[in-house]
Amino acid sequence: MKVFENPSKKTTFKVKDTVIGEDFTFIAGPCSIESLDQIDKIGSKMKEMGVHILRGGAFKPRTSPYSFQGLGGTGLEYMSIVKEKYDIPIISELTSETQLELFQDVDIIQIGARNMQNYELLRAAGKLGKPVLLKRGYSSTIDEWLHAAEYIMSEGNEKVILCERGIRTFETSTRFQLDLTSIPALRQKTHLPIFVDPSHAAGNRDYVIPLAKAAAAVGCDGLIVEVHYNPLEALSDKDQTISYDQLEELMDEVNYIIKK
Ligand code: PEP
Ligand code: MN
Repeated sequence: MKVFENPSKKTTFKVKDTVIGEDFTFIAGPCSIESLDQIDKIGSKMKEMGVHILRGGAFKPRTSPYSFQGLGGTGLEYMSIVKEKYDIPIISELTSETQLELFQDVDIIQIGARNMQNYELLRAAGKLGKPVLLKRGYSSTIDEWLHAAEYIMSEGNEKVILCERGIRTFETSTRFQLDLTSIPALRQKTHLPIFVDPSHAAGNRDYVIPLAKAAAAVGCDGLIVEVHYNPLEALSDKDQTISYDQLEELMDEVNYIIKK
């Protein structure tokens, strides 16, 4: 099925025990994998809290080349250990085709906002056949985003999740603007599952819970958020990283909204 076909025939697929597109899905974890101890602690806590999928970046597309770039392949090795130990699926961002063989244990391939129109990367992710979470480019229209998804699907891989993560506007008080309009608009155009990342849109931990609630109310299929046991010391995106207590509140509030 092509991306623009049959919007009423929702795509669903399984990642371990979770049916993406059907079960409301929580993805949470640190922006970056920082050490084995850090991802072990957070992985254990996410499992305990009922988070479905653990996130953690190993190859970080940072705005400055001098910012922490991630642990690369070593980070993914740490993620695999934690995946096994706590029996929790994992998601991590792929930034280059050259990294593909390191992603064998990764359950969902994340394509970041900055690479949304990296067509060779999209084709490579499509060929891999694993589920792909495709972030919206922050200067991309909904149709450009859907065409990017089609690049993955045209390789025979229909397991694509669209993830709204905020766009650039004239407003500078927040990191990006979370375009919640895209969720009902996408529902009319496509059958693909739609997730929301309130963390990167907000750039501020105090905005994450209200935005997550709004996203759930508008009908997204899941959320991806950045969490750390000590948000102030996270090596990347600390300003938007929430605490365990905040994640608990977020999940309680969202679970209440989606039950209604
Ligand atoms: C991320 O999820 O860590 C990330 C870099 O997100 P985005 O591509 O949306 O900026
Ligand atoms: Mn981040």
